[in-house]
Amino acid sequence: MHFFNYKGNEMYAEDVPVRLLAKKYGTPLYIYSYKTLLRHFTAYKDAFKNCPNIICYALKANSNGAVLRLLAKNGSGADIVSGGELFRALRAGIPPEKIVYAGVGKTTEEIRYALKSRILMFNVESKDELREIDRTAGKMRLKAPIALRINPDINALTHPYISTGMKKHKFGIAIEDAIENYRIASGLKNIAVIGVHKHIGSQITSISPFVDSMKRILVLVDELQRLDFNIRYLDIGGGLGIPYHDETPPVPADMAKNILPLLKERKLTLILEPGRSIAGNAGILVTKTLYLKKGEGKDFIIVDAGMNDLMRPSLYSAYHHILPAVRNRRRKITADIVGPICESGDFLARERQIHGVKSGEYLVVMSAGAYGMSMSSNYNSRPGIAEVMVNGRTHGLVRRRGEYKDLVKDEEIPGYLR
Ligand SMILES: *Cc1c(COP(=O)(O)O)cnc(C)c1O
Repeated sequence: MHFFNYKGNEMYAEDVPVRLLAKKYGTPLYIYSYKTLLRHFTAYKDAFKNCPNIICYALKANSNGAVLRLLAKNGSGADIVSGGELFRALRAGIPPEKIVYAGVGKTTEEIRYALKSRILMFNVESKDELREIDRTAGKMRLKAPIALRINPDINALTHPYISTGMKKHKFGIAIEDAIENYRIASGLKNIAVIGVHKHIGSQITSISPFVDSMKRILVLVDELQRLDFNIRYLDIGGGLGIPYHDETPPVPADMAKNILPLLKERKLTLILEPGRSIAGNAGILVTKTLYLKKGEGKDFIIVDAGMNDLMRPSLYSAYHHILPAVRNRRRKITADIVGPICESGDFLARERQIHGVKSGEYLVVMSAGAYGMSMSSNYNSRPGIAEVMVNGRTHGLVRRRGEYKDLVKDEEIPGYLR
């Protein structure tokens, strides 16, 4: 559920016409809905309220400071994958004791920063990393709280690039090797074992991969507790899908209904790491039609947003609904909706049926709030685009549009070229 709907022929972001925002702030433009973000976060809070839990929003989905502040103010923690994300989380006011840190390639500097910040725990992905955390914590005379990220070898039945929980993936520690690795961890002087972590993938649209992986992980948790490991946190990752097209993914309440009974009397604090299911349908990308072009047996609608602004269609062949900011009754055409980037892979949609569009009219790419701006780049030397948040009738920039001078602000010309 979200707050981007037509009133008459005009699409609104909450109580403001999208066309108005596009005129005021320019295009391409990301628009986020405050009420949608809050609703999605609250859905998790409500669903899991009967079980001790921490909802650690996955920053990589959308790390805009205003989005993070909104979530922080409502009690969210953070799932981070880099020092930069730790910086953003702390700056937004997310308390360190609600921050968990995953990722296969944490550097020594990042580990030091996280230790210094007193985060809740590291989700450790290999033996080597475990030893590096131990070494770094030792030098700082600290004990590093950790969970091991366990790979339960479950097929998340999603796009191969966003599936992470099978043996062939680079993530986590194979479940067969879990006990051995927990023994190694508890033998290290500067490590405190406190949890178990899993995350099996993203855009998962059925409940069974969550239930199956949970059952496997609970067998491990029981075994660890029997062996006297002090497991207090069970981090079950993120990955709940959203409707992009015609999917009907489970909602947090379905997750809770299927997962919580499995926990029974176990005294564990549950950690959830939702990203996409919080931010995805809380954002849209507005783009302006530049040109129309007839190709060999195919029409092109050329717009001012490119793959550098929204990478998902190019990277994953992802589907996004594309709707006019103002509906019309023109004849439907079939067209590729493409950006200005010099790559054939630069498209927002292929062979899409859409009512005729005229140059200067705005199109709205739906479900663009997650893995949109956070994956964007300056490729083709295109300055970063603006982001706006709408709350009822109120709206304002949450990131100003980049300028040309921003593109070169970190560059240096060596003396011998001057
Ligand atoms: C990406 C990621 C998430 C969030 O996934 P969503 O599909 O956006 O919910 C959670 N945990 C980890 C470890 C991740 O890498």
